[in-house]
Amino acid sequence: MQVILVVSDTLRADHLGCYGYFRSTSPRIDRFAAEGVRFHNHVSQAPYTLPSFTSLVSGQFGTTHKVLANPSGQNPNFPVALDDTTPVLADLFRAAGPPIEIADGRYVGGGTLTASFDNLANFPNHPKWFVRGYEYHVSVTPGIQRMVGADVLHRRLFPWLEQHAGESFFLFIHYWDVHSPYLAPKPFGAEYPAQRIGREVPVHPAPGGGEYVSAWGPVAEVTPEARARIDAYDGGIAYFDHRFGELLDHLERLGIAEQAVVALTADHGESMAEHRVPFAHDELYEATVRVPLIIRAPGVSPSGAPESASRSAGLPAGRVVTALSQAIDVAPTLLDLAGIAPPVTFQGRSLLPLARGDVPALHQRTVSEWTRYLASRSLRTPRYKLIHKFTGGLALARPQPRRITWHELYDLAADPDETQDLAGELPEVVRDMDGELGAWVAGQLAPGEVDPLLRPELACWEPGPRAASPSGPRTGGALALLPPERNPWLSPT
Ligand SMILES: [Zn+2]
Repeated sequence: MQVILVVSDTLRADHLGCYGYFRSTSPRIDRFAAEGVRFHNHVSQAPYTLPSFTSLVSGQFGTTHKVLANPSGQNPNFPVALDDTTPVLADLFRAAGPPIEIADGRYVGGGTLTASFDNLANFPNHPKWFVRGYEYHVSVTPGIQRMVGADVLHRRLFPWLEQHAGESFFLFIHYWDVHSPYLAPKPFGAEYPAQRIGREVPVHPAPGGGEYVSAWGPVAEVTPEARARIDAYDGGIAYFDHRFGELLDHLERLGIAEQAVVALTADHGESMAEHRVPFAHDELYEATVRVPLIIRAPGVSPSGAPESASRSAGLPAGRVVTALSQAIDVAPTLLDLAGIAPPVTFQGRSLLPLARGDVPALHQRTVSEWTRYLASRSLRTPRYKLIHKFTGGLALARPQPRRITWHELYDLAADPDETQDLAGELPEVVRDMDGELGAWVAGQLAPGEVDPLLRPELACWEPGPRAASPSGPRTGGALALLPPERNPWLSPT
């Protein structure tokens, strides 16, 4: 069995053609989706890189694994870490397959080949759970440099694939091309600036008022500067799509495209001119937590021969799943495809029954979490999303913190862009969902344990002293755009 997990950083679902985007950013991904199963309502557990990847590889929610923020050089003693005893996806693949052979106390063989082409371990606290379990760990960037182009990545990756094409393996590949600063090489995205709002770029009236471009934001917020960034972001997607196609072509050339399982997803999305968090992945709106998940698993037997009658391997081509799925389901799904039992620590479930159409739904809700200048938790059901925002994280480390809490409620069926907060209109829905969310949090915590979103030491590196400054840099700016009555960084009145 060959399993390849591809994660594009910062790739929101609704900027891909197969997810309904009005631009043709993703011809190769669209064709790939037509050959596999596409999960239309797939939710990331966190909008930041480290928390989200930690959920992806551990199969756990943030409140359980406690990795809720990104570290930085500003806090080299960042105490956040995944417990060493929590298995991660690579551990589980590594230990599976041919029995582990020990002779005279030494490992001599057995297990499954594992490899990652990923530099998450270059984050300032060097998170070791992104290295654990890999026989090959290839980090192509030196120091704490994280951004790297797919062209450089492929120069390391393709020879490895050529060398190991005849073996069983689990391979994890992490691409950065879509992430800011949105520097796609020409000619990717070159045609986008000529597209006119109201012509090639469709506009509709938003339920919350005003003219709106889906997946971009209110027309009034799409300034020339914002527009240039949206076009550049989409250019990054077009470039990634081209390179992803190159990877698929390489599998074809090596003769393994018909047997390898390939899963494509993202750790989080990116807010465009939306929700007062422009061009960042803060907060828990769909722009940042709804990500693609597409799995192609051609029907094969363990020997590699095509298997037509059995449903024990392979997935249908072209199926679209609209039921809810979540990032913590990815690890159990990939293990299930390889015939490996999930560990008891997993909180997600295999998506194979959904992918094969055996059940209409697996989840009636999912939870995402975030903390920086605020703390926030969302409860997403097939129709609604409740977002609970409150003073938490770093704001609680201030002297005399100002304690604020509120809810927002969106009807995603009627208002997928989350333009109209219905919390005031539907108090009974808020009450029920908030009760459910509270019970969920209590169920995640040990007796007496403090909610990790209320622990400042687990929060993100920013904002520091500059946070309350309206003229501050990006994060300070997003914070400053909060209405004063909802800004926990202002002094108590
Ligand atoms: Zn990321």
